[in-house]
Amino acid sequence: MGLNMTLEKCDVAIVGGGILGTTISYWLSALYDLKICVIEKERDVAMHTSSRNTGLVHSPLHIDPKKNNVIARCAYVGRDWWHALAKKRSLPWKEIGKLEVALDEKQHKTLEKFQKWGVENGMSENELEIMDSKQVSQMEPNVKCHSAIFSKRDVSTDYGILTKQVMMESQKNGTKFLFDHNVVNVEENSEVKLTFTDNSILTSKLLINCAAGHSLDIAKKLGLANEYAHLFFRGEYWVNGNQYDSVKTNIYSVPTNSQFPFLNPHLIKRANGETHVGPNAALVSGPEVYQGSTSDLSSTISEILEIFHGSPRKLFFNRAFLSMVKKEWLSSISKTAMINRVKKFVPSIRSKSFSKRGVAGIRANIITPEGTFLPEVMELKGNHSFHIINYNSPGATGAAAYSALVVKKLQDAGFLDYTQKPKNTIWNFEEIIN
Ligand SMILES: Cc1cc2nc3c(=O)[nH]c(=O)nc-3n(C[C@H](O)[C@H](O)[C@H](O)COP(=O)(O)OP(=O)(O)OC[C@H]3O[C@@H](n4cnc5c(N)ncnc54)[C@H](O)[C@@H]3O)c2cc1C
Repeated sequence: MGLNMTLEKCDVAIVGGGILGTTISYWLSALYDLKICVIEKERDVAMHTSSRNTGLVHSPLHIDPKKNNVIARCAYVGRDWWHALAKKRSLPWKEIGKLEVALDEKQHKTLEKFQKWGVENGMSENELEIMDSKQVSQMEPNVKCHSAIFSKRDVSTDYGILTKQVMMESQKNGTKFLFDHNVVNVEENSEVKLTFTDNSILTSKLLINCAAGHSLDIAKKLGLANEYAHLFFRGEYWVNGNQYDSVKTNIYSVPTNSQFPFLNPHLIKRANGETHVGPNAALVSGPEVYQGSTSDLSSTISEILEIFHGSPRKLFFNRAFLSMVKKEWLSSISKTAMINRVKKFVPSIRSKSFSKRGVAGIRANIITPEGTFLPEVMELKGNHSFHIINYNSPGATGAAAYSALVVKKLQDAGFLDYTQKPKNTIWNFEEIIN
């Protein structure tokens, strides 16, 4: 199938068969009669971040509505859309909620802020409950804290399985998924020309770049965002394979590194019944470095310094950043260090109960020319291309809704000047557009 396709031309080529590229392909194929191709270097969809995450459908309480209203709205709407699909196709869906704990009065103030943000982002007041330590003990006797917020809307799922289902829906509409095709070069003239590892070529009227940790490289090949850089952070997990029943819900804690886009490790109840601790955020040298020497921090830093010239260097002079990097690496080297971070609010947790490493995932964070973390998703337009970069958590939660917005933006920008099909879609396109 792949080799034939390389001789063909398509209307829209989407690079990246993660949850984002796959949901965009779904919307395009459901709304238009177009020749759409999803190009994926692996043998299946969702082989990277979209299967390598915490698997939580997040309520938008960590998102400041004034700064990131679109992502918050997508997470809010996206939850019900994933629910509808999971119900229709009997996919993993566990409505067990999330308890976020504060360890002192200062952290409690953050919980109050999260409650306000959650409501401003569309949640109803009874979906978010602030609890004192006694109420928490009644709900979760093994959790010790000053106070907590319980979010009833949060759900444990498996985004890899959801992505595969969306792929099937998209294939029914005619989308072709081209696996084992690694895009190594991109050129943009009157159309876009994609070159693969074996030198075969595909041309397309429009390119949508959803290549996550490789998306900036692809954009740079077209002369875009040259002043930006990527840094990569590996989120690792430890697994309790037996039924760990000390807690019933997902337990998060108030983030202590608010100037960086990482949460502390949590206690996670997976949709498959396993309990995990994680993720940390260990700085690594590439978007797919899932393993590797975790004991040699200095050589990794020098490798990273060699790779990332320019703006990220500035971060290495930031004490808070260096201290965060050190702490996160310690949680990579030492299981006990990782478990101890959760022990602060679940004192009975034992390191020996978590006997194997889980599936790690990597966040690709964009560093601005000023040497700071870009907090939002970055969208760039070329003459015949649209690039989505820095699409991070809660990206999986919001993907079905955000991808509808991307299609609307492409329509508005004149990239999709084609006749539309009658709308017969699994989700309501207008709900998020309006
Ligand atoms: C540790 C961790 C925990 C997270 N937890 C959550 C959570 O609980 N809830 C939530 O909502 N979000 C979570 N996220 C965020 C979420 O997983 C991501 O936002 C989302 O999966 C990103 O999807 P994507 O399609 O952009 O990326 P990906 O799934 O990485 O897809 C990109 C695809 O592009 C392909 N590709 C790249 N380059 C090329 C090329 N040159 N040629 C062909 N193909 C290429 C890759 O093979 C890959 O399949 C988490 C992320 C991490 C790292």
